This record gives sequence, structure tokens and C-alpha cells, in this order.
Amino acid sequence: MNKYVEVVTSLPIDRTFQYKITGRESYAPEIGKRVFIPFNFRKRVGYIVKFEDDPAVENPKDLIDVIDESPIFTGDMLELARWMKDRYFCSWGEALEAMIPGALKRGKVSMTQRVDDEKYDIASSEPHKPNKEQQQVLNEINACIKNGTHKVFLLHGITGSGKTEIYLQAMENVLRMGKSGVILVPEISLTPQTVERFVSRFGDKVAIFHSKMLQSARFAEWKRIKDGNAGIVVGPRSAVFSPFQDPGIFIVDEEHEPSYKQEDTPRYHAREIAIKRARMAGVPVILGTATPALESYHKAVNGEYRLVELTGRIKEKELPRVKVVDMRMDFDTRVGKTVISPVMAEALRNDIKKKQQALIFLNRRGFSTFVNCGKCGNVLKCEKCDSPLVFHKEKKEMICHYCNRRIPPPKICPFCEEDYLMYKGTGTQKVESELHLILPEARIERMDSDTMSKRGAHAKVLKRFKDHEIDIIVGTQMIAKGLDFPKVTQVGVISADANLNLPDFRSSERTFNLITQVAGRAGRGDLGGEVIVQTFTPEHYAIGFAAKHDYHGFYTKEIVTRRELGFPPFVNLVKITLRSRKEENVAKSAEALAERLGKKMPGVDIIGPAPSPMAKLRGYYRWNVLIKTKDIDKLVKELRGALSGFRKGHGVFMAVDVDPMSM
Ligand SMILES: [Zn+2]
Ligand SMILES: [Zn+2]
Repeated sequence: MNKYVEVVTSLPIDRTFQYKITGRESYAPEIGKRVFIPFNFRKRVGYIVKFEDDPAVENPKDLIDVIDESPIFTGDMLELARWMKDRYFCSWGEALEAMIPGALKRGKVSMTQRVDDEKYDIASSEPHKPNKEQQQVLNEINACIKNGTHKVFLLHGITGSGKTEIYLQAMENVLRMGKSGVILVPEISLTPQTVERFVSRFGDKVAIFHSKMLQSARFAEWKRIKDGNAGIVVGPRSAVFSPFQDPGIFIVDEEHEPSYKQEDTPRYHAREIAIKRARMAGVPVILGTATPALESYHKAVNGEYRLVELTGRIKEKELPRVKVVDMRMDFDTRVGKTVISPVMAEALRNDIKKKQQALIFLNRRGFSTFVNCGKCGNVLKCEKCDSPLVFHKEKKEMICHYCNRRIPPPKICPFCEEDYLMYKGTGTQKVESELHLILPEARIERMDSDTMSKRGAHAKVLKRFKDHEIDIIVGTQMIAKGLDFPKVTQVGVISADANLNLPDFRSSERTFNLITQVAGRAGRGDLGGEVIVQTFTPEHYAIGFAAKHDYHGFYTKEIVTRRELGFPPFVNLVKITLRSRKEENVAKSAEALAERLGKKMPGVDIIGPAPSPMAKLRGYYRWNVLIKTKDIDKLVKELRGALSGFRKGHGVFMAVDVDPMSM
């Protein structure tokens, strides 16, 4: 008879706590069950990870109660969380809590399910007969499922090359074998058509997660999976933790998407978790994308992943023509007037005349993206963040896009008190209003987080676009993915340079991906399509290769740069960010940290300390120390030792990010 349990909690403390089993608990203690424990005079939720016969301390406290009738974590999930704790620098309990709905973390056992207002009203669809190429891949995947072999497949192919049909048929096979599977998508509302295809094929066997979901609905879906009533899960990164009894496959669609990386503790990458879970279960993983992450493609080229290049039914000549417009050339004709080049204006005019549709992309919302003074040159910035305030014309407010701080637009310059403020930079509101001037007859809608904040707004606009009640949609990344409308023959990119100027080694990759993705929205029907890309740097290779739909060309050039500069995939990065409300404290602390790491880990490549590219955020000054390594497993172990006992200084916080997605 066990006498004690070892429990972990969501506190950021890397240890277990011991409690005494009294026999008065509602249910028998078991590994993987939740318990209520006394902790610092409060009742907390904890998770049983181990039994002990002997007390670790004198008189451990009594358990308050066992919450669950049966464990909510399997042994595999506990093991996965322990791996996450080491890999991503969090506590075991923090990793466990990333895996479950919020209600469970608060100790709830049931929730009344409210009816979710977003219904999926979709006709059922039948499987297509796979073509030879698809069948070959499916045979390989199905063999893995059958034999319990772990293998990672990288499906490289543009939209329409047949990736989704492979996902669907592999999943069907998994279900037939009585197993379960998950398909990760970057964000449900951005990829409605992928979701529709799963629901139409598998009906109520599909559980769906999305970010705007009610807590009660999330809990209900989690329970359906747990009880074995939904064998397929479609959802964003957290769906990778679906509580399957018997996983059969993990699919990551758009595997290159940065949104698979969680930016808060635990800072995991859903693609890496999918691969880890699949390896533990001995099942295959499918990564699918038109623009593989450099890291993934590199592994595929080196034979670590099985590379599948899909050509599908798409022929080279059917790809939309991409026209690159050099915005320096006609600068004189545009002065003070417009952000839309004559080439783009003319193309849109023709498009509307022919009763076709267009998408105009710009990844910045608001009207003027910065305001500066013509006399003293100062830019109006947020007091709490190192970020220019963006002018929103509709609300007549200056808004910080990082902390959402809002102020009325000042009449005079707050620095020199002169009346020379100039509204500059282009956001989606400005593009929309200029389009109205150029094309007064066109029906135009804007799609960004300002107009799409209400639940269901996104689906409504897309429905009206489908019914051709709208001619042009202007939007942010919300329109970059997954949309498939046959009448869209024009796609415009207002500024291809936005990402190129960021101080991040992935800026070229992001630019290439974005243009490729947006371009993929044109010419989906029989009418063909054209893409117009406006840029001030037409000579940049990321833009050039994207215009030619040439991923291999881009990869070959970019991988050389990465090797020369020593960036991923040739090394792993670890970013340590220190933040404090006092600038001198954080600088001092960052210097002390870099010195300590240099001493404790000789030979390790340490970069910095230096202020973060975003040097101030929400009132905190931020400094980074960056570490490069060729042996990440060894490094994280050493780093844990080197960091333990480090005194950060008063009011300084530290975050460790392994494989960061931003600098
Ligand atoms: Zn001024
Ligand atoms: Zn701010």
C-alpha cells in the first residue's frame, strides 16, 4: 500500500512535492490524476506523478482530495511533459497544464455545455480516387500505420497539388484501424476550407478546436476525444496534446507557420511535439506545405525525413503570373497621392470590368503606420513600448499595436510644440480608402483584426465574397491562407518589403513564404490569374524566386547564407530575455548573465548581451543573450546548471526560449 504521492503544480518550480494519502479521498490516488493539495495556506490543483513508500520530509501534509475518477494523463503524456520540462525550460506542471483545457486546471470535473453558435453546415463528400503520385505516398504512410513505424513525411507541394486528399485518406485508414489522429492547422478561422473538407468527410467523428471557442465547448470537445467519441482532431497548436488512447497519425499542415510556436511558457513548437509524440507511439507524421521551413527541408534533403515533392495536376503554365513593380520607378507620379501603383490600379480596373474579383494584401492595419514631426523629426511612440503609434482614422485614435494603449491624435508635436505633424506609412485603412477613390464603383471590404473582432464576422465576409457581393477584399494575413475562390484573378501585394527590413535571420524566408502564399490565392479557377507585387527592392532574391514560384532556387541560396552566418538549421539557438522596469537593472543583469555563462560553459558561442530589437515592451526594458549550439541536448543540460543560482537582480525577470521564432 502506497503511503505518499509526489505531486507537481503549475508553479514555475522544477521539483515535485510530497503529500500523505489519508484514505479519506473521494477516489483512489493514481498516477495522472488531479488532486487538491494544501500549498502556502491555499488549496491548489496538482498532478500525481509518482508514489512513494517513505516520507521525503518529516510529516508531509495530507492530500485534501483526489479530483478524478480516472487519470486525465496517460503515462505517455506524463513522460512527454517531463521531456518538455527539460527541453523548453519550464516546470513539469507547467508543461502538463499546456495540455489540458482551462477548466481542468481550475479543478473542475464537469461543465454544462453551452451550444456553440458556429455551426458547420456542410454537405458530405466522398473520397477522390488518388492519382498515382498520391497513391504511392499513401501506400508508404499506410504501411507505417500498419507496422507501427515512426517516420516523418514532408509533403512539399503548392495548394491544389493534392496534400489535403492525402491527409484525408491517411486519416481514414487510421480510423479504420480503430486509432485516432490529429491534423494541426495554423488557425481555424484562417483555413476554413481545410476544416470543411474534414468535417464533410468524417462528420461528427471530428472534434474541432479554435481560438475563439467558449470554455465549455473546449471542455466538451476534450472530453469527446478522451472518451473515444471523436477519433479525429482538427485544431491549432494546442491540439497536438489531444488525449488519445491510441494515436495513429500526426499531421501538421502549413508546417512552416510561426504560429506553431508558443510565445509564453512553455515555449514549445507544435511540430516538434507532434514528432516527439509520434516517435513515442511509433506512428507516422505528415508535414505539409508549399514553402517548407528551411529546418524541415534541410532534414528532408539529408534523409532524416522522407521528402515527397508533389506536382499533382498543377502544371507550370497554370501558375499565376507574378509581376514585380519597382515602386522607385514611378515615385514622381505617385507623390502625395497613392500607395497603389498605376500598374496595379489598371489591373484592378480591368478585373472589375470583367466582373472578376481581387484580393489586396498588406500586413499592417490602421491608416498611417507612423506619425513624425516635420520640424524636429521625432516619431510619436508609445510610452510603454519602443513602437510607433499607429493612426486609426475610423476611431480617430493613435493606437500602440503591442499594448493597445490609445491616445487622441495630438494637435501639435509633443517634442517641439510646433504644428508640423505628418501622417506617414501605409496601413490597410489607407489602402481601402485609396481604392475607393480609384475605383468608386467597386464593392470593397476590409479584413483585419479591427473589422473582424466579432465572432463569425470572418465567415460572413467570406460568404458574401463567395456570392460576389464584394469585388475586392483588402486584408492582412487573414486573407493570405487557404482561401480558394475561382473568380479571384487579381492578387496585389502592397508592400513586399515589410518583412525584409526586420532584424531577423528569417526575414528573407518570411518574405518568400508570404509572397508565395498570397500569390497562391490567384487563378484558382479556370479564369487564370495574375499577381502584382509592389516593392522598393525588386532585386532581392526572396522576391525574385517567389515571383518565379521557385522554392528550390530560394532554398539553395538561403541555405548557403545560413551556413555562412551560422544560423539554423546549422545550429540551434537559445534566446534568454531579461526584462525590468528599470533600464540600468536589466542591462547590468544581462551583462552579469553573459559573463557567468561564458565562465560556466567555456567554448559555447554567446552573442550579446544587447537590447532586444523590441527594446521596450509594455513598460519593460528588454535585453537578450543569444546562444548558438550544435548540440542542443547537451547545451540545455549545461545551461540549466549554469542558470541555477544566478541572481537576476531586483525586479528583473528572465525567460529562456529554445529555438526562438523571433529575435
Ligand atoms: Zn517636433
Ligand atoms: Zn505600447
